Amino acid sequence: MKKLLGIILGSFTIGAIYLSYNYITFDSKQLDFRKIENNSSYDEAVVHLSEAIQIQTISYDDHIDTTEFYKFIDFVKDVYPHTFQKTSHQLLGGLSMLFTWQGSDPSLKPIILMSHYDVVPVPEGNLPKWKQPPFEGKIVDGFIWGRGAIDDKVGVIGILEAIEGMIKNGYQPKRTIYLSFGHDEEVMGNNGAKQIAHFLKQKGVKAEFVLDEGGYLTDGLVPGMEKQVALIGTTEKGFVTLELSTEIEGGHASMPKKETAVDVIAKALVAVHDNPFPSHISKPLNDFIEHVGPEMPFALKTVFANSNLLEPVLMAVYEKGPSSNALVRTTVAPTIVEAGVKNNVLPTQARAVLNIRILPGETVESVTSAIKNTLNDDRIKIQILERSNPPAVSNPKHPAYKMLDQSIREVFGEVVVSPYIMIAASDSRYFTGISENVLRFCPFTLNKENIKSFHGINEKIGVEEFKNSIQFYERVIKNAEEL
Ligand SMILES: [Zn+2]
Repeated sequence: MKKLLGIILGSFTIGAIYLSYNYITFDSKQLDFRKIENNSSYDEAVVHLSEAIQIQTISYDDHIDTTEFYKFIDFVKDVYPHTFQKTSHQLLGGLSMLFTWQGSDPSLKPIILMSHYDVVPVPEGNLPKWKQPPFEGKIVDGFIWGRGAIDDKVGVIGILEAIEGMIKNGYQPKRTIYLSFGHDEEVMGNNGAKQIAHFLKQKGVKAEFVLDEGGYLTDGLVPGMEKQVALIGTTEKGFVTLELSTEIEGGHASMPKKETAVDVIAKALVAVHDNPFPSHISKPLNDFIEHVGPEMPFALKTVFANSNLLEPVLMAVYEKGPSSNALVRTTVAPTIVEAGVKNNVLPTQARAVLNIRILPGETVESVTSAIKNTLNDDRIKIQILERSNPPAVSNPKHPAYKMLDQSIREVFGEVVVSPYIMIAASDSRYFTGISENVLRFCPFTLNKENIKSFHGINEKIGVEEFKNSIQFYERVIKNAEEL
């Protein structure tokens, strides 16, 4: 008995020492850069963003009003004459803009700054809920209101303001700078960013880094963190949309067979629901843990410092909420179910659509074959409707990532900076292959309130926040010269 007690106590002591050791050696990865004060007023820029919001560059699923898009392109020409004069510019995919600001040193790799100028529609029914109209760019209570304020005209106008100002001041970059402004990001980017990426690949462009939307300065969104956390998306989830369909002889509803087409598809959906993809700590999540963990309060820091050992505990916490669950596994959401034409007729066909978001480390093929195994039913035909593999994970130890980290601190001051996985898809996924550093960060603060305005109601950006975003792009352009 004594011996057993000794063994138990001994293991506890070793365990405690092990946990403490990991805690003590869980070093901060935060860089030491100070905020740089900025005296520029940027007042005109605020008016420009307001004007940009007033142009209704809406991407509907099946059509766009091209006059509004041309109006936006003309607006850019009018408002940024120096940029137009100093850079070469072209339209690709019809309406997407690519600017090239030639650097003085051709031996240096170029950089690519991205954004998109299309926006999602505002449903009629939601109009009364908007405190300010969505397409008037009203400047009220210290905010610029309207669709596109944070997604993503802040990027387009923020970048252009920075460039225009720098050109006016006689700045000449050493590196070539490409500006890529897509016109159809909200509907997959097939005609915009994809065409620009294709064009650059054909030219043999290899960029030092690509910077697009997809990461934010967050306030109160990282559980356990009091400080603001700037999240840089070092990768994003891939996706595959699968159609499951079956055809079975029908008949009269008064004499149903043992299994109808509806039963087969219903069982398939239950099987998929009951067999989720396993949760685990992927490479980019581990990068996040290593950067945010050391800044956490004691209890959470201990768990994060011992994430290898305590993975099941961490997973149990992550699996609780839909957004955190999405960070630890490939998720499957049935989005369409269809069958039947008449109340008393057995349907001969049934179909369901699964929208699957793929965690880095898995592929369209591996996920599709896992679903096939789960269904284990030859009567079900599986067809891939849309697909995109998760892009490569950018390395947070690379100087390009660190340059972005530095630029964030120089503008936003004392914040925690960390890599993370973006769970939605961005235009930047097309740029894998052009650079090993595809980084996602849009310079404004996202909190529990305004996160709902993404594609939602009352989208707006703080006037000061928008001014910071211009300073941020200036810092990125200047700091990129030192890489
Ligand atoms: Zn966007």
